Amino acid sequence: MSVKKQNENAKRGKLYYSFPAMSMLPLLFYSIIVIIFSSFTFTRSMQEQVSTELENVANLASTLIDTAYPGDYTLIGDTALSLYKGDSNITSDYSLIDRIKERTGVDVTLFYQDTRVLTTITNWDGQRIVGTRAPGVVLEEVLEQGQAEFYNNTIINGSTYFAYYTPLYNTDGQITGILFVGKPADQVNAQVNRAMTPIFIVGLPALLFACLFSVRYARAFLKSLYALKSFFSKVSAGNLSAQLDPIVLKREDELSEIGLSALTMQHSLRNLVEQDTLTELYNRRSGELRLNASLVKARTMHTPLTLVIGDIDLFKKINDTYGHQCGDQVLKNIANILRKNMRGRGYAIRWGGEEFLLIYENSSLEETGSALRALLDEVRSTCHESEEHRIYVTMTFGMACDPSKDLKDLLHEADNKLYYGKNNGRNRIIAELPPESVSV
Ligand code: GH3
Ligand code: MG
Ligand code: MG
Repeated sequence: MSVKKQNENAKRGKLYYSFPAMSMLPLLFYSIIVIIFSSFTFTRSMQEQVSTELENVANLASTLIDTAYPGDYTLIGDTALSLYKGDSNITSDYSLIDRIKERTGVDVTLFYQDTRVLTTITNWDGQRIVGTRAPGVVLEEVLEQGQAEFYNNTIINGSTYFAYYTPLYNTDGQITGILFVGKPADQVNAQVNRAMTPIFIVGLPALLFACLFSVRYARAFLKSLYALKSFFSKVSAGNLSAQLDPIVLKREDELSEIGLSALTMQHSLRNLVEQDTLTELYNRRSGELRLNASLVKARTMHTPLTLVIGDIDLFKKINDTYGHQCGDQVLKNIANILRKNMRGRGYAIRWGGEEFLLIYENSSLEETGSALRALLDEVRSTCHESEEHRIYVTMTFGMACDPSKDLKDLLHEADNKLYYGKNNGRNRIIAELPPESVSV
């Protein structure tokens, strides 16, 4: 077995085989039962029909013989015996039984006692099989016990017959012989087969179609199930950006609901891991990943990238004056302003307590500067209400723009500028340090 095939088999669980089998087997089982039962019932009803038909022909033949040749059956003669019915010598008179066969398609035989004396049945060379004896069971049940009987497997002259035997009586009430009427089983079976053929012609393709349909359904179901399985394995292995195969969500059943829940779960997990709980901005850990990704992107695409570190001015005083809870609310409000301003521009990260890192993608120092000025204006003019107090805060920002530089150096540069801003009146944006303040 090839390695690829082995891997595939290892991935396929029990359900891969049992699910299609379970969806198809009951159908197959049910169809086979229906086919067997219906052919059995059909064959039985055919036999009943043949039995009634033969009984009618037997009655007709008996009446016709009695009408054509009134009187009793007698065997006359010393050596060459002749069979009489009334005054008529019916030995070798096949005209009547041949006509009955011609009209009804049914073979007729007249037995005197246990011996065939007149019959329409011929052997392989066209000779009528007169002089032969009736089967033992017929002699016992019909000739001796006087019962009219239907048999569906009488063998005459090597062929199987559906046969109806009825006793013949003389006027004194004695049984003198047997009247047989019968149809070759081949004929009846051919009739059954002819009637059953359309059932098979329509039924089998329909069954095949139903099986294919159920297997297809099972396979589609399994495909989605395996997509979900692979998604869950990736997420549980820590890949919180794993993609769920869209075929799962396109379904309109419980599987797509599970798919939606799985995506929601992934989203919540990602938020838990990546978000800062207070501000709902990226936390420092995921922020660092974001920062690396942005830097790689800027270097590959040769686009500018500006990093900004912003810090709320004199924040400690807010906590001290209005309480920690109020400080939290101010942090949330500032985070909302940052998030709103960074939309379409890059990312806002909570870098420390009241310190934020802003990543301006594809943005030069000048473009970032003007965006920051608007941002700082909004920060300054936003009123944070706490009980009866109206609080205003300012922020100081330090910028660094050069994706070719080392990340550490970029952050260091932005931090230096922030520090410079803090020491030079706060509430400002520092894009460049004056030459005399640059420490070497
Ligand atoms: P500066 O202008 O120099 O930055 O002054 P500052 O008071 O903002 O700076 P400092 O570093 O002295 O104080 C920062 C304060 O921020 C101290 C700390 O208690 C507070 N802080 C940090 N994280 C949180 C927080 O999650 N919630 C609240 N309410 N306060 C926080
Ligand atoms: Mg501060
Ligand atoms: Mg600080």
